[in-house]
Amino acid sequence: MTSYDVAVIGYGPVGATLANLLALRGLRVVVVEQETEIYPLPRAIQFDGEAMRLFQTIGIAAELEPDLRVAARMHFIDAEGHTLIDWWRPTDIKPQGWNTSYRFHQPTLEAALRRRLAGLPNATVLLGHELTGLADGAEGVALGVTDRATGEQAELSASYVVGADGARSLVRRIMGTTLDDLESHERWLVVDCLLKDGATPDLDEESVQYCDPRRPATYVPGPHNRRRWELMLHEHEDAAEMVRPERVWEMLEPWLTPAEATIERPAVYTFHSVVARGWAKGRVFLAGDACHQTPPFMGQGMCAGVRDAANLAWKLVEVVQGRADADLLDTYESERSPHVRTFIETAVRLGSVISTTDVDVARERDLRMRANPEGFTTPAPRLGAGAWDADDERAGHIGEQPFMADGTHADDLVGYDWAVIATPDAAARLAGTVAPRVVAVDSESGRDWLGRLAAEAVLVRPDRYVAAAADSVEALDDFAVAVRRLTNTGEGSPTAG
Ligand SMILES: Cc1cc2nc3c(=O)[nH]c(=O)nc-3n(C[C@H](O)[C@H](O)[C@H](O)COP(=O)(O)OP(=O)(O)OC[C@H]3O[C@@H](n4cnc5c(N)ncnc54)[C@H](O)[C@@H]3O)c2cc1C
Repeated sequence: MTSYDVAVIGYGPVGATLANLLALRGLRVVVVEQETEIYPLPRAIQFDGEAMRLFQTIGIAAELEPDLRVAARMHFIDAEGHTLIDWWRPTDIKPQGWNTSYRFHQPTLEAALRRRLAGLPNATVLLGHELTGLADGAEGVALGVTDRATGEQAELSASYVVGADGARSLVRRIMGTTLDDLESHERWLVVDCLLKDGATPDLDEESVQYCDPRRPATYVPGPHNRRRWELMLHEHEDAAEMVRPERVWEMLEPWLTPAEATIERPAVYTFHSVVARGWAKGRVFLAGDACHQTPPFMGQGMCAGVRDAANLAWKLVEVVQGRADADLLDTYESERSPHVRTFIETAVRLGSVISTTDVDVARERDLRMRANPEGFTTPAPRLGAGAWDADDERAGHIGEQPFMADGTHADDLVGYDWAVIATPDAAARLAGTVAPRVVAVDSESGRDWLGRLAAEAVLVRPDRYVAAAADSVEALDDFAVAVRRLTNTGEGSPTAG
């Protein structure tokens, strides 16, 4: 039986991100994916700067950039075109070292993640192999997999298993994990169109949410010539009928005609809003859609899943490599669950504005919101309690990514690892006293960030969340103690003796 440090079930964007991060840090990883091809139907179309920063860490940001479109705005309008909500995003490069929001094509991203993993020697990918069973034991997990082409069955073993196997997760069912239902389940038709060469339909440059009770709809301009419409289906409408090209063109009539574009891929989805209760059981974990699902109104489903991957991967690395005790893994759910719940609850609230089909309710909403349109900003919640200094109000939040004076992204100096970002003075004092790389900021963006935090030094986790900070040069001795404790590299840590 072949054995691995971690078996990742599912090779969607979350499984692929997780496998890359684990393999980058030297773990032996196997990915088990039942399909032989990347899922082709339209799904995610926006990711945020935090996700892009993670793709930078994995080493695919430069490859992705030519196929991204920077997004500035999402405008919610009523049936008469009045603004109800204006969700504006800055288009300068900050604070993650990237733009705040990008439009993208999910299969293109997934292909880049897969190519990158293929270049890492310690990762094995079993395409066309379905997980059929799991048995968790004290020393590891035994997995049953079936080759779907031949029916051949095999057994693997892994120290840890992560079910990134999507919304219908078998791993979740085997674990017996239940889902908390935030009670928003809506059927929408999703259509990607490709504009024909030379076609110039009168379309917005930015995204629009049409809060029209007759047919709530979303329009998102994708990269290059791809344009996305999401159209809410009424209860009586039959999915098979609604994906017929004639029906799709009827619904797209207000925006464009068959002379201007081709329909790439229509699909009907029911958007759920759920969070798992129990993201881990023994040596088995859940990530991505397997443990939370959100309506897409904030474009955050996959983003939340890649945050799971970033949060879980370094903890598995620390435990497998013997630096931390296994109870570090308990902080995965405690940190991530409240964080993702904030995004889902916010998406459900936005959805309730968009999806109203009752004309009287819509009229009352329009009058109320037109009078005082909401200026929406993306939530930036703090992690739930976990592996960060709960006494420091700066900790538990995503850190910024400064540029160095020579234009290098600071993360490129540290990779997927712990870092201390410090003023030159503090960096000189800390050098040699703590295990993580100490990066002395030498640029305006670095000085600005430390200035806003009123910090001389900041401990940043591999997932880029702030774990601790020092207020002053005098506080650096205490800070160094906190760094050794949080990074499991000091007295009393599993590897310290
Ligand atoms: C219309 C729509 C719009 C969206 N828009 C956005 C957006 O703009 N931004 C955003 O961030 N998110 C968005 N999302 C959400 C995003 O697409 C998902 O959150 C994301 O694809 C989930 O990734 P995942 O890797 O967790 O799961 P998946 O991509 O579903 O991958 C799971 C994989 O597991 C495999 N698998 C399942 N069972 C087994 C088994 N037993 N054995 C082996 N393999 C198995 C499946 O074949 C699949 O490949 C949108 C979704 C939809 C539907």
